[in-house]
Amino acid sequence: RIAVPFVLLIVLSVLGTGAYLGNLFRQRSIDNLQASLSSTARLLAASLDSATFREAHAELLDRRAKEWAQALDVRVTLIAADGTVLGESDQDRSLMENHGDRPEVIQALAAGQGSSIRFSETLGFDTLYTATALLHNGAPVGVVRLSVPLREVNANLAAMRNATIAVSLLVAVLAVLIAILIANRTTRPLRELTESTRKIAGGTLTDRLRLTTQDEVGDLARAFNHMSDQLVRQISALETERSKLEAILEQMNSGVIIVDQEGNVNLMNGTAEKLFDVPSTAVGRSLVEISRDHNVVELWDMARETRRAQVLTLERPQQRDHLQVVAIPLGGTLAGLSLLHFQDMTRMRRLERVRRDFISNISHELRTPLASLKALTETLVNGALEDPPAARRFLTRIETEVDALTLMVQELLELARIESGSVPLERHTVSPCKLIREASERLHLQAERGGLNIIVDCEDHLPEVLADPPRIEQVILNLLHNAIKFTPSDGQVMISAWQNMQTIVFKISDTGVGIPADDLPRIFERFYKADRARSGGGTGLGLAIAKHLVELHEGAIWAESTPGRGSSFFFTLPVA
Ligand code: ADP
Repeated sequence: RIAVPFVLLIVLSVLGTGAYLGNLFRQRSIDNLQASLSSTARLLAASLDSATFREAHAELLDRRAKEWAQALDVRVTLIAADGTVLGESDQDRSLMENHGDRPEVIQALAAGQGSSIRFSETLGFDTLYTATALLHNGAPVGVVRLSVPLREVNANLAAMRNATIAVSLLVAVLAVLIAILIANRTTRPLRELTESTRKIAGGTLTDRLRLTTQDEVGDLARAFNHMSDQLVRQISALETERSKLEAILEQMNSGVIIVDQEGNVNLMNGTAEKLFDVPSTAVGRSLVEISRDHNVVELWDMARETRRAQVLTLERPQQRDHLQVVAIPLGGTLAGLSLLHFQDMTRMRRLERVRRDFISNISHELRTPLASLKALTETLVNGALEDPPAARRFLTRIETEVDALTLMVQELLELARIESGSVPLERHTVSPCKLIREASERLHLQAERGGLNIIVDCEDHLPEVLADPPRIEQVILNLLHNAIKFTPSDGQVMISAWQNMQTIVFKISDTGVGIPADDLPRIFERFYKADRARSGGGTGLGLAIAKHLVELHEGAIWAESTPGRGSSFFFTLPVA
């Protein structure tokens, strides 16, 4: 782009200079020619006799003209003051018209000297005419006119013009070549810069310019490289920040969803995917599609409209959970987006219920023995003391109630201690069969009294388990105790153990009343009694204690039952 105007300028100035010099040269040549022709004409005029310069001597004058013309190589014309041609070197004088109207003749007759340039019909060229007056007694009697064609001057001029054109063409070509060369050199760094910029835009951030020149281009390259370094640093800082955020989002226990203005999900963490049971590819779908809950969509809408955080507790019967949903409209660069936060409150809700149940249960459990204690003491106070046998009977019943209360308090304390983790386990290796046999022997008598048979099935080669024997015995006792309690006479209680991978599974089963399916998931809760009428004397704490003890041993406990046919309780202990 720069080269074109420069080439034009160069060509124009060469052409302009050529034209100017040509004209100057031509003018000078003509001036010189004119000066020499004038002096020659004056010389010739001086050599002529003014007295004989008349029509009468035309013959002689004409010859003279021809001789001079030959000698001087110019055209010579001798003209009388009235314009009549008296002598002419190049033509027949008699055929020539009156020359009184020629400008050089008029000038010469008036001022003694004259000259003009014009096209000559005779010579067929641009011609320079000079005329000098021939004086007689101070008055002009005729004119000596010399003329030369400007052929040579014009030819010189043409040669000069051609030379100028040739030179300007040559200069133009050279200028173009130099311009291309310079342009190439100047634009190469620019091209490299463009190339690098493209690479960086395409994601290749490692590309650097290798221009080390000390000029502006070098400065630009250095600034560019510096900018690339900065960019790399900033991008890596941003990436670190993003990874941190991603890690936090992924590790969060709560679901996080970011929704855009149109209601499409822009971002979703793993917990949210699990909560709504959608794959990670669901990002980009609408909030309605993902949450499948109009309450959530309305909450988001409201947060967006009011520009305030909105909270909602969502109960999802199908998923059997409770979610606390908070919709927060975002600001700043994230304006238009909203953040939805989902917290699974199911566990908290359950804990709350357990606590409520616990309090209502314990009050309920205390009310019955306390009421009967109150009734018994009132009866005693109101006169039963006067009847010693009756008083004795009442006091025995009071003792039984107090014992039951004591047992409950003891079990509660025990449970609290186990739960708080302040029960130190003294674990050592022990044979599973030994644990089973000792426990079943302790309840042998009780079973017999209930008309029951305890069948023990344990193979002695079973690997030993790692356990605190009195604690595990307590677990087995609690389970056996229940089996005996809930099995009518003539029933059977079986206790067995076997190995399953790295655990020993213990099973205590009976042919008793069984547990309704609805109660089965809850029997390990404190105070939970499936059948209040039948479980009479129990506190509802036995299974809760067993569960905690097994879990302290890193084992699991569960139950299976067919109502009316019997129940089976299982627990596991790790192989030593
Ligand atoms: P309890 O001291 O009342 O026996 P548990 O915690 O040991 O308390 O048992 C809780 C409830 O589980 C019992 O009230 C009973 O309804 C049910 N249950 C436990 N074991 C059995 C079983 N072997 N057969 C039937 N029901 C059982």
